[in-house]
Amino acid sequence: MVKVRNPKEIEEMVQNGAFAKKRIFSIVAHIDHGKTTTSDFLLKRAGLMRPEDAGAMQAMDSDEEEQARGITIFTSVVLLAFNDDRAKDDEEPYIFQINDTPGHLSFTGEVSRALRSSDGAILLVDALEGVMTQTETNIRLSVGNEKCKPVLFINKVDRLISELRLEPAEVYQRVDAIVNGVNDLIRELQPEGQDWVVDFAKSQVALGSAKHGWGFTMEILKDHNIKPTYVFEKYNEGDIEWLRKHLTLDDALLRMVIDHLPDPVTASRYRLPEIISGIDWDSDLGKSLKESDPKGELLGMIAKVFIDPKSFRPTLIGRIFSGTLHQGDKIYLVNRRENRKVKRLGVMEITDILDMEEVPAGNLFALFGFICPSGESFVSSEYAQTFEDHGDIPRFESIKY
Ligand code: GDP
Repeated sequence: MVKVRNPKEIEEMVQNGAFAKKRIFSIVAHIDHGKTTTSDFLLKRAGLMRPEDAGAMQAMDSDEEEQARGITIFTSVVLLAFNDDRAKDDEEPYIFQINDTPGHLSFTGEVSRALRSSDGAILLVDALEGVMTQTETNIRLSVGNEKCKPVLFINKVDRLISELRLEPAEVYQRVDAIVNGVNDLIRELQPEGQDWVVDFAKSQVALGSAKHGWGFTMEILKDHNIKPTYVFEKYNEGDIEWLRKHLTLDDALLRMVIDHLPDPVTASRYRLPEIISGIDWDSDLGKSLKESDPKGELLGMIAKVFIDPKSFRPTLIGRIFSGTLHQGDKIYLVNRRENRKVKRLGVMEITDILDMEEVPAGNLFALFGFICPSGESFVSSEYAQTFEDHGDIPRFESIKY
């Protein structure tokens, strides 16, 4: 169940929460496959939107809603706290930072930069359309280039039943074809030594309807002792309420995220050697990066830049991979070769920055104080001075797309 937390609790979770309880991920999809509807649903479950508004209103990118809430397509980072129903009552919640990526193909560079600051991705595919060009591009960017581990959500399954009038066996044939198409690409692109193919039997694939707010994985069907055919019966009876109540979409999606997407430390160990250059991985900085050590030397990247619609100030969203960033810190922008001051720091929570004195490695952050292009790497100004030739300062590889 998604829970609303107060700012103090969020701050505590960001600063001191165990890595095993954190996930930073993006949702990627071909246009119109339902990413906005899915994101809305998660926002609604987090108590951030009125239930009647979710679905009808598309919070992540519709113009009206953007104006009302001050969201732009480049801004959205959603912070969710989630109590895993499978855990005992006293278990600490999970904290998710959902790193939105622009939906349109012309923003490929922006998608890559957002993915670079994530560790995993929900690949979302429309059950009717299947794998499309942009699905393929997104898998290439997320799995191939940015080493974000995937899970798969096959959306709009309601339309297979209501419009195409498919029998359950035919629905599963179609699902298999999509899973196979996605897995062919994953196999080609996954990092060496990793097995990232997705399997419905292992609950790495969810099926559902974002529009109606239901979805399931194999594990969820088993937990509720529901046969797949029963889902179709319920849908054919028009009992959407039952589906939404017993097979709530966020459970399916967030359980996949918990079980199959990596936490920030696990991901950093295999991802960072592929995307940062100029590092001796046995050095203190190398070790700190692989452990997301908050006490290590500072190294981070700027993932997105946008103008805050309320204050009209430029806001930067980024990720810290080693060390801790503090309010008031002086940082060195590695490509621009300039020092800058962090005037205001925090984490982005949909439309607002939740101010924090410091944000440690393994988190996304939001800051005010200066502007620079997205994709920029930074270290502390003090550390930069220890390099005779600033061309040798470690930095992220340039984005390929
Ligand atoms: P995006 O471009 O990926 O963000 O797609 P949207 O979320 O804007 O959805 C595109 C269209 O598909 C909208 O008209 C949605 O209402 C519709 N849609 C999204 N999810 C579903 C679903 O699960 N079932 C059905 N029938 N329609 C959906």
